[in-house]
Amino acid sequence: MPDLPELSRDELQRYARHLSVPGVGIEGQRRLKASSVLMIGTGGLGSPAALYLAAAGVGRIGLIDPDSVDRSNLHRQILHGESWVGKSKLESAAARLREVNPHVELELLPIRFTPENALELVARYDVVLDGCDNFPTRFLSNDACFFQKKPCVYGSIFRFDGQVTVFAPHLGGPCYRCMLPSLPAPGSAPSCEEAGVLGVLPGVIGSLQAMETIKLLLGIGEPPLGKLLCYDALATSFRSLRLRRDPACRLCGDKPSIHSVSNPETNASTSCEVPGSETPEISVADLAARIDAGEDLFILDVRQPEEEAEGMIPGAVLIPLPTLPDHLAEIPADREILVHCRSGGRSARAVKFLRESGIPQAVNVAGGINAWNALGR
Ligand SMILES: [Zn+2]
Repeated sequence: MPDLPELSRDELQRYARHLSVPGVGIEGQRRLKASSVLMIGTGGLGSPAALYLAAAGVGRIGLIDPDSVDRSNLHRQILHGESWVGKSKLESAAARLREVNPHVELELLPIRFTPENALELVARYDVVLDGCDNFPTRFLSNDACFFQKKPCVYGSIFRFDGQVTVFAPHLGGPCYRCMLPSLPAPGSAPSCEEAGVLGVLPGVIGSLQAMETIKLLLGIGEPPLGKLLCYDALATSFRSLRLRRDPACRLCGDKPSIHSVSNPETNASTSCEVPGSETPEISVADLAARIDAGEDLFILDVRQPEEEAEGMIPGAVLIPLPTLPDHLAEIPADREILVHCRSGGRSARAVKFLRESGIPQAVNVAGGINAWNALGR
């Protein structure tokens, strides 16, 4: 590898514990120095990821974040501190990262990631680490990475649950749109940072994203292509769900209809909504008691089929939320319908839709399968 940069004396000292790791060594460390990562966001996921990537000696890190530091972010955005509240997140990040490793070149991009700049930005880096907290940006990073043939390291969090994978159809496996074909409508989102998050959770998930990024840059191990790693902090469990490439995917499928990056279609907002208190609810404990009592219940599961690996409520009928309007005839209008999803967001949306569609006894199962699993049945 004659064109890889040399390491200075200081760097050899700094990375000494890397140099003895099989698969890293001097070659790998030089490879890291020659590599570049674009980080979208310096928030909960981006904070630990940026710290570890800088400390590991990734040569060039681009940081996109137009926002300023907010005190309510500090419980999870460990890149930033009290003295930076109200100031630029990028300046804050740069000050901390330079302290962590002065050998890393930082590119500060105090801009929004938009369809106008996405392709050009992604092209300049080897890997994209998506640490954003909204669906439109995830679609955009997925699409831009697809067109530029760059791996997109995905992470998402919700309260006690996190997910990690790598989308890189040019290396194999699906893209983000194979998993989520279209932008969720407002209120239907299964996860959302704004809905509350335990601060350490993005620490776990962001660190996993950093690990997958380093693996990709070094070319070691197996990237989780077609594999969604799901972390459940309450159950202390990691599970892998298989993600398949969708031949009908509008981006990476056999007959694609998306040929350039654009603003994500539909009217979805960038922030998530939490089910309102006006949604009629039943607790999983009450539901379990009624099942145990032998009641004949109509339980409707509105998750995607692949989510069944996360657990199922016995007897539930699966009709994914996007297909619900086509299956209304299968849902009795004269009895109680108990609707659940993963955590309660999509099912709340389904309940609202069913009630508006002449099924007045639709009820949301609070907390969804996550809460059900927590019962330990
Ligand atoms: Zn796809």
